[in-house]
Amino acid sequence: MQKTNDNCSLVKLSTRMIIGGRPVEAANSKTFDTINPANGQVLAQISEASEKDVDRAVKAARKAFDEGPWPRMSPAERKVHLQRFATLIEANAEELAMMESLEAGKPITDCMEIDLPETVNTIRWHAEAADKIYDQLSPSGPGVVSMIVREPVGVVGAILPWNFPAMMAAWKLGPILASGNTAILKPAEQTSLSTIRIGELAAEAGLPDGVINVVPGFGEVAGKAIGLHPGIDCVGFTGSTETGRLFLKYAADSNLKRVLLECGGKNPFVVMADVEDLDTVADHATNSVFWNMGENCSSNSRLIVHKSIKDALVEKIAERARDWVVGDPTDAATRIGPMIEQAHMDKVLENIAAAKKDGADLVLGGKQVRKDTGGFFVEPTIFDGVSSKMRLAREEVFGPVLAVQTFETPEEAIAMANDTEYGLAASIFTGSNKTAHMAARAIKAGTVAVNCYGEGDITTPFGGYKLSGFGGRDKSLSAHDQYCEQKTIWIDLS
Ligand code: NAD
Repeated sequence: MQKTNDNCSLVKLSTRMIIGGRPVEAANSKTFDTINPANGQVLAQISEASEKDVDRAVKAARKAFDEGPWPRMSPAERKVHLQRFATLIEANAEELAMMESLEAGKPITDCMEIDLPETVNTIRWHAEAADKIYDQLSPSGPGVVSMIVREPVGVVGAILPWNFPAMMAAWKLGPILASGNTAILKPAEQTSLSTIRIGELAAEAGLPDGVINVVPGFGEVAGKAIGLHPGIDCVGFTGSTETGRLFLKYAADSNLKRVLLECGGKNPFVVMADVEDLDTVADHATNSVFWNMGENCSSNSRLIVHKSIKDALVEKIAERARDWVVGDPTDAATRIGPMIEQAHMDKVLENIAAAKKDGADLVLGGKQVRKDTGGFFVEPTIFDGVSSKMRLAREEVFGPVLAVQTFETPEEAIAMANDTEYGLAASIFTGSNKTAHMAARAIKAGTVAVNCYGEGDITTPFGGYKLSGFGGRDKSLSAHDQYCEQKTIWIDLS
């Protein structure tokens, strides 16, 4: 039996699922342990949703959609509710940040300065958009009024990953709710706490019962039940490509529910020979691969750099990475917390071992550290001399591991950037506007950042080409569209 974690006294942890606006136990009273990855100890026991609980949540969400006030109120009224919800999340940001730090091992400074502000801003932005999106009249003849109207798709299941739990919940909830749908959130089994708390805050904010339901539990049970449930109209999924594929199968085997997938990436960071300031490039490169321990779908884990500046740039990145404190995620100085769980750390270490075996040159790191804590820490790791054929250049590691590759011509750089099954994000650094524009157009990815590492902001769509995504985009007004049906109303005036 594992020891219970002392840190859980830092915040009050809610552990029950939320159905119809109320915290409830699982129908069969089952719970599962959630673990603190910084010390391997049990943080709390969470109610474990079975098919029966998913069915209860669907009934509550259906009732709220089919009979309740939420889809029937004016967009301006929904806006007011959602703004109140965002303000409550903001008021509880410190507590939510601590939950994420304890349960996901995320550095508390990142949680406080990035994740929670973005969570609040996301709900606020979509709330504000609710009453500013217009329907259309089509250019039909004078004998007809032809309207193209948007209607909420209905009950939406949101399947969440563990790397940005609150932020991913907000990316889904903002547009789902602003468009008038009701939601069933399934947090990743590693990180239920902040999502449950967000469900409680929705009730405190006065959102009608059943508008947000939270069913914590395992993918193969609760996730699958959501994928197959005929009472769910749409699933918004963020997670691995492998699991994303399953949701397409679930939809095919059930009610052809709409499926929106945000999946993995193996993203390139391309540096041309004409860059003006190598220190700035090194700052962005370090951040892009090591931020959030590399457990980030848009992590730029492939550094594709011109041969002439490779040694200088790699040295600068290594210098910076040595300064990133690997430590207790609840300590404000920590930049690198633990991997999410033992099995994931083992996978990251296995990727490191494979890179060595394939002949890549280890420049920095490469080991588990802080073993005495019982936590799952891996130090920032850099491999030089990586070829396109090596596993490290092809598979998503989802850890703090950088693969360095070199090129001689811009065309070669673009070909290397595109030599991947994924297409989520990319960065291109160059002193030439012409090269920047050429590369930004030629790289097949949902986001291409020029002379910076970033994903844009809430106003820009986020999603992937190829195996990185399917069906739609998170963030921006595009996210509202994907949770709406489009209806034609054709009125004959003759
Ligand atoms: P995962 O696919 O293992 O899990 C994601 C979710 O799917 C979890 O809620 C899980 O319980 C559920 N799930 C797992 N197996 C299932 C099954 N058989 N049936 C139904 N549901 C199931 O992914 P993860 O390990 O939690 O997250 C990491 C992955 O997410 C990485 O590949 C990363 O790139 C990706 N990701 C993508 C984005 C994006 O916006 N594109 C953002 C964050 C993470």
